[in-house]
Amino acid sequence: MKGKLIIFCAPSGTGKTTIIKDLMQRIPELAFSVSATSRQAREGELHGKDYYFLTAEEFKTKIKQDEFLEYEEVYTDQFYGTLNEEVRRLWNQGKHVIFDLDVLGGMNLKKQLQDRVLAIFVKPPSIDELKSRLIGRGTENEESLNKRLGRAEEELSKEKHFDITVVNDNLEKAQEEAYKIVSDFLTQE
Ligand code: ADP
Ligand code: 5GP
Repeated sequence: MKGKLIIFCAPSGTGKTTIIKDLMQRIPELAFSVSATSRQAREGELHGKDYYFLTAEEFKTKIKQDEFLEYEEVYTDQFYGTLNEEVRRLWNQGKHVIFDLDVLGGMNLKKQLQDRVLAIFVKPPSIDELKSRLIGRGTENEESLNKRLGRAEEELSKEKHFDITVVNDNLEKAQEEAYKIVSDFLTQE
């Protein structure tokens, strides 16, 4: 049996990583698709667990060799992409695969795979709250914070292309909602 695909998209800082981690603990049949990126690792992030950290050159070589199912230059000179091999590896383990993608990457993957895909848009309560969360996370400098906020409005305008929206206002409520949506999807034929 081929596994299903669950795509989570949201402007950076909305809380999708937090929601995905909670789901992974509660649903053992899920496996996280580790993306490749050319951005620097944050403190505590591990190669092979959070991302495959590549140089921009290594990333571009993989683009040329057609190794990506999808990729985006999410911010100038910062590439992020899903490796064909990663998805194959997880499917071979009999898992359902969960993705954390930017909005364009999510739309692209949904279009390519269509069947067996659920694309979930996670929405922040407001741009001001998004900014507070990014600052509160303590991972961004002024430049990377502005890059993320600069993209958020455009990303929010793409909500209609997704199958379902979860508003992440109260975290516990959003986690419950996501859990119900994903469990229902996985039990469907
Ligand atoms: P993303 O993966 O979408 O970039 P994260 O999961 O890293 O976002 O969350 C960004 C920050 O916001 C983290 O510090 C996280 O703990 C916090 N956070 C997530 N959800 C909520 C929420 N509902 N209310 C307040 N803070 C939240
Ligand atoms: P961050 O730097 O905060 O980890 O991620 C920045 C953005 O890149 C987020 O919106 C995240 O979802 C997105 N992203 C992470 N991995 C991928 C990927 O493989 N492909 C695409 N298109 N976007 C990704």
